[in-house]
Amino acid sequence: MTGLDFELVENVGYREFNGELLKDYWNLNHLSRNKFTYTLSELLIKYKIQSAAKLQSIVKYSGHLKFTKLLDCGSCARDFKIYHRKDIDFYKSNWFKDQLICDRCKREKINTEVEEKITAFRESISLIKKYKISPPSQELDYLEKIFLYVLITKVKISDQNLIDLQQWQCFQSLEANGLEYVLKGIIEKGYIYITDIYDNVLLQQNELKTVNDNLMAYLSYDNQRELKENLSLNFYNDIFIVLPDEFNKKEDFILQLYNNIILHELKNDDLKEIEEFLILKRLREVYTLIDFICRARNIPLKKNNAFEIDLIRMIRKYDLQHVWSIIFYQAKQAAAELYDMEFNQRSKSRFSREYVFPHHISSYLDYLESKNQNPKYPRNLPDNWVYSEIELFVSSSIIGHYQKWDKFTPKQIQAMWLESTKASDEDVLDIYENNQ
Ligand SMILES: [Zn+2]
Repeated sequence: MTGLDFELVENVGYREFNGELLKDYWNLNHLSRNKFTYTLSELLIKYKIQSAAKLQSIVKYSGHLKFTKLLDCGSCARDFKIYHRKDIDFYKSNWFKDQLICDRCKREKINTEVEEKITAFRESISLIKKYKISPPSQELDYLEKIFLYVLITKVKISDQNLIDLQQWQCFQSLEANGLEYVLKGIIEKGYIYITDIYDNVLLQQNELKTVNDNLMAYLSYDNQRELKENLSLNFYNDIFIVLPDEFNKKEDFILQLYNNIILHELKNDDLKEIEEFLILKRLREVYTLIDFICRARNIPLKKNNAFEIDLIRMIRKYDLQHVWSIIFYQAKQAAAELYDMEFNQRSKSRFSREYVFPHHISSYLDYLESKNQNPKYPRNLPDNWVYSEIELFVSSSIIGHYQKWDKFTPKQIQAMWLESTKASDEDVLDIYENNQ
């Protein structure tokens, strides 16, 4: 209470107005400043009033204490009116503090800021410049050619060589998962161009979205409408196929790519590249199968280096159907052990739950190795398995046996791949003529 200047406001028009009582009721003990001079019982006797409720009522309508405080904005003030003693808390300093926020100024400030943000956003849209693409000059690697060829022939591309965004994303997740470096190489050599002109606009639009989500309650109608309009705008960075200078038509470029791939004789460097590609591709496939079975059997799993080393050991030795058979069977065992760990007190496992499945795979591989055995049965991949287009292209157009790769180990695929490119001169001539 100290430090506040009260003013006692009287309401003399009130039928039962009692100025004396009002003054006595609000009179403070001058020594302690936080105690009233009279207690309610003393006032009841002094003024011959029957009940405390009646007294409170007379006091309330006879007037109030008033004090004025500057609000947090620094420019507006607010009047506080107090009608009852209980509304004052002597022991809490600034008990009215949370009422000092100036809503009006806060709204004004927020809305001005939002308006500025919207204006800046509109301006940055108008500042976008058209991009200039220079044709690629560097030669693509063998694998890069295969990726690009499959991309161009399988994905929807407009007459302006614009790649359909959704299909581009599908291609990335199916074909380039774990093999992003191949796409990166093609992009760096300039055969695929991804514009970045919208990056800044997208960043700003994202900021507006945050404003919209967090400050909605404070925004003026106009600002709300403006935000809604600007947030509904879509910006996509474009993805282009860029043709080398000597080609005017996409079809000519595709044909040349195809011939280059088909006529290419593998060199040592290519072999290393292919080996890495096949292992990484197979590793991604195995992870997909593992994710699939862990979801289906509700198995927790910690993927770490030790686990990956076991996977690679398995991939190098067995084809995908046998690998899938091992994974499938060991998942079954792991699920049974996990069930035991949960419901059977006596079976206390040495492993935390997420290591149970990796341990099963690892020890089964050790077992096969020690007995010098192979896993007995292959297992067909799940019905909804999506085969990679790159695999199908290599299998049909390069290796030429039209077989899917799940029956082969990476080494076997590599050997077939190598064999098929060692064509006789006659073959080469045949292929060349067929494509003319
Ligand atoms: Zn204010």
